[in-house]
Amino acid sequence: MSQELLNVHNLCVRIEEKEILKGLDLSIGEGETHVIMGPNGAGKSTLGNTLMGKEEYEVTSGEVTFEGENLLDMATDERAKKGLFMTFQNPIEVPGVRLSEFTRSACEAVGNRMSLWNFKKAAQEQMKVLNMDPSYLDRELNLGFSGGEKKKAEIFQLLMLKPKLAILDETDSGLDVDAVRIVSEGVRAYQEQVGGSLLIITHSTKILESLKVDKVHVIVDGKVVAEGDEKLVGEINDNGFEKYMKA
Ligand code: ADP
Ligand code: MG
Repeated sequence: MSQELLNVHNLCVRIEEKEILKGLDLSIGEGETHVIMGPNGAGKSTLGNTLMGKEEYEVTSGEVTFEGENLLDMATDERAKKGLFMTFQNPIEVPGVRLSEFTRSACEAVGNRMSLWNFKKAAQEQMKVLNMDPSYLDRELNLGFSGGEKKKAEIFQLLMLKPKLAILDETDSGLDVDAVRIVSEGVRAYQEQVGGSLLIITHSTKILESLKVDKVHVIVDGKVVAEGDEKLVGEINDNGFEKYMKA
């Protein structure tokens, strides 16, 4: 058993007076890859957003520790500095800011300051992994990017930022098979290069094919209702969530 990185205990979260997470427990060890599955509206993105410290998510009870420290007391930028990272279901567009500028200042913000030359060299290496043309570095963030290009840009940031825990929120949804494979290779490069932990929220098995998965959690109505190994993913793909929704 590896050293514990993240511990979530009895987490209850409210948004606009509505209770979304209702006593959620989760523990992730260093270097482990965990998968979260669950029906739409179960609270999966809410969990990710709460871990990142988005302010509209009101924690009403429970504890969250990251490397043994109380995460809930930390501001969003502090959490990023500690090594938390999340990709979004709908990546934002930032007109006037190039992918290179955005990523380089994000690296700087988490304490990884690089000369422009070193940044470009490292960036070009990671872009090879993702089969991205280096000219993307000069494009404005996500402007006119296809769905696949937006996701690759996020995985590129993951490879450059090297967080301790990366939360991927349906990074693979809406992508064609080739894009999923490249994203999956990028995530595997993160596992191999950085050895960091992953929390992958997904509905599909394709992104998991080339990854080593340590544990699967099923979330229904704001709680973890089932846990298991990789086989659980296949079981849910075959039978759906119905069995867990009745329980
Ligand atoms: P999932 O990612 O599992 O599909 P979410 O965590 O996105 O589910 O949403 C859980 C519930 O919380 C849904 O009913 C959703 O409408 C609600 N919710 C999530 N985020 C917000 C928000 N920012 N404002 C209002 N309601 C929200
Ligand atoms: Mg979601």
